[in-house]
Amino acid sequence: MNLLVVGSVALDTVETPFGSVKDALGGSSVYISVAASYFTQPVRLVGVVGGDFPREHIEFLASRNIDLDGLQIVNDGKTFRWGGRYHYDLNVRDTLFTELNVFEYFKPTLPESYKNSTYICLGNIDPILQLDVLKQVTKPRLVVGDTMNYWIDTKPNELVSTLRHMDVLIVNDSEARLLTKEPNLIKAAKKIIKMGPGIVIIKKGEHGATLVTENTIFTAPAYPLENIFDPTGAGDAFAGGFIGWLARTEDLSPDNLKRAVIYGSTLASFCVEKFSIENMRDLNYLQIHDRFLAFMELSRFDER
Ligand code: AMP
Repeated sequence: MNLLVVGSVALDTVETPFGSVKDALGGSSVYISVAASYFTQPVRLVGVVGGDFPREHIEFLASRNIDLDGLQIVNDGKTFRWGGRYHYDLNVRDTLFTELNVFEYFKPTLPESYKNSTYICLGNIDPILQLDVLKQVTKPRLVVGDTMNYWIDTKPNELVSTLRHMDVLIVNDSEARLLTKEPNLIKAAKKIIKMGPGIVIIKKGEHGATLVTENTIFTAPAYPLENIFDPTGAGDAFAGGFIGWLARTEDLSPDNLKRAVIYGSTLASFCVEKFSIENMRDLNYLQIHDRFLAFMELSRFDER
């Protein structure tokens, strides 16, 4: 089933205790689309880049069968750039710079062929733009959204309006607390449910993710990797794996939502094993399925 993804397309400069990369392919819509492309087709990307965006990145995205009709190329502008540095505790990250460039004037306009999109993933951008995208889609079946501290602080009312149109909100623990002013994460998730999304997923970095609905709580561990090189985009890869699986199966039952959380965690675990999207360039079905099965083993136990 088709999937529409909107968000940033970036050139990232990232330092971790294990190395660094400069102007590597990144951005929320890239991580989401690449992860989702392992499950469903077509993935339709909406974003903007400048004339400096390397041709090889376009070719890579196209090679994953990602539809780029919605990628605006502003030839006389520069691509959005973001820089970050991680500490030994990889949950701690400093943003070194954010150069909006062409992203500053980004107005997501959907090509005609995208307007019938069914599964929608709103990456972390201005909530007003997220809503603009939704207004252009005729009949979405599932809307999954992400946000971040910056929008919670600077556009709380606009974010609340957009939340009313989301079915699933994916946020990290600190964002859930900030949004609801509630320290307990389960209570925070239930408060968010009252704001619109019937399903809330709270990500806790290396401690996994918890899905909360009115009647269910499901917790997935993060895959216990010994080598984590770059956590950038893990949350977006999670979102891509999650919605990609749901779009593939077209099944929104509680059991399948749990599987989607595990497929999201699976793609996030591949993402962090190398810089940028390097480790998600060329996965195969068996690698993904084996890790999915390993997740089952991680917390399976018998009563006696
Ligand atoms: P995450 O690690 O999930 O926070 O996602 C990291 C990605 O988000 C990087 O590839 C960045 O290019 C992108 N990013 C960083 N800041 C912003 C921003 N203000 N708006 C949109 N995307 C951003």
